[in-house]
Amino acid sequence: MTGAKDYYKILGVADKASEDEIKKSYRRLAKQYHPDANPNDHSAAERFKEISEAYSVLSDSAQRKKYDNMRRFGAFSGGGFSTRSPGGGTSQRFEEFDFGGLSGFGGLGDLFSSIFGKGSKGGETAEPIESTVEIPFRTAVLGGKIPITVAVEEACPTCGGSGAAPGASVDSCSECKGRGTVTFGQGGFGVTRPCPACRGRGRVASESCTRCGGDGWVKVSKRLLVTVPAGTDDGHKVRLKGQGQRSRDSGPAGDLLVTFTVKPDRFFSRDGLDILCTIPINFAQATLGTKVKVRTVHGRRVVLNIPAGTQPGRKFRLKGQGVEKSGKKGDQYVQIEVGIPEKLSAEQQELLKQFADEVGLPH
Ligand SMILES: [Zn+2]
Ligand SMILES: [Zn+2]
Repeated sequence: MTGAKDYYKILGVADKASEDEIKKSYRRLAKQYHPDANPNDHSAAERFKEISEAYSVLSDSAQRKKYDNMRRFGAFSGGGFSTRSPGGGTSQRFEEFDFGGLSGFGGLGDLFSSIFGKGSKGGETAEPIESTVEIPFRTAVLGGKIPITVAVEEACPTCGGSGAAPGASVDSCSECKGRGTVTFGQGGFGVTRPCPACRGRGRVASESCTRCGGDGWVKVSKRLLVTVPAGTDDGHKVRLKGQGQRSRDSGPAGDLLVTFTVKPDRFFSRDGLDILCTIPINFAQATLGTKVKVRTVHGRRVVLNIPAGTQPGRKFRLKGQGVEKSGKKGDQYVQIEVGIPEKLSAEQQELLKQFADEVGLPH
């Protein structure tokens, strides 16, 4: 076996790269070298295959582990397994690298095909779609349903997803010989992926569908109702499994990630599970005491007793009238705002002065 490809180098990541780093790097490179972005560019197509091959191994933790072990063990360094002797001086290293009870080297081909043979694996799960939706304050507090529209890709209705223009002749793909898959080979093992040239269809059309540009997929708006859990706060997210993009290669549909932003309310505001509001009263009411009606976010009307001598800014608590979430209940706080008259007639001023004199207030 000749020196093998360095999958880490191909993806431009470090040997210790995290799954996330590998995924990110793969996506970036796959986009850059995808045949759609580089029509008739043979070297880009080759690079794309290499990237796909590297990713198919490194994205699978079990395969990656075995690949790492083989690199360390030197299977790719030219010496290979076959020059070593089981039961000899190096047998200890076999155990150390945990090759699953592989005895002797005759099984090497099987080992490789079992590790790298991904041909029968189902399609990849589609990428999740993210969406943000603004919800009314009360819906956030009480829960409810909100309609949202997301852009997803669907099979093109003009060509039925084939990518061929109406009446175009369709021939077997020369790149994959009509198989729809290509196998990236290294020595005795291979990685099977959808053919980049025909997008896994196995056939190419003489003329592409104009609506989808031969892609077979078009962007459409999908409307759905999203359930808002009671007690939702600004920035909360929900994940709707399988409600996002359909997979292009018959894998599971992707998830839809919805972020809620809460529209401010004119009367209510919120602090965690507590609801806050402000009620204006006049200075006579504050001084003499009064009763006010207060709305709750749950739609109730509560009569609140304001005692004589209530100071501006004082807060009253309506117990249990806040947000309910996971068995917990917040309160509603009513803050009192006292209005001071801006203009008094001469007569009213006189009355107020008399009052001030009576109680000994300077004026
Ligand atoms: Zn089409
Ligand atoms: Zn093909």
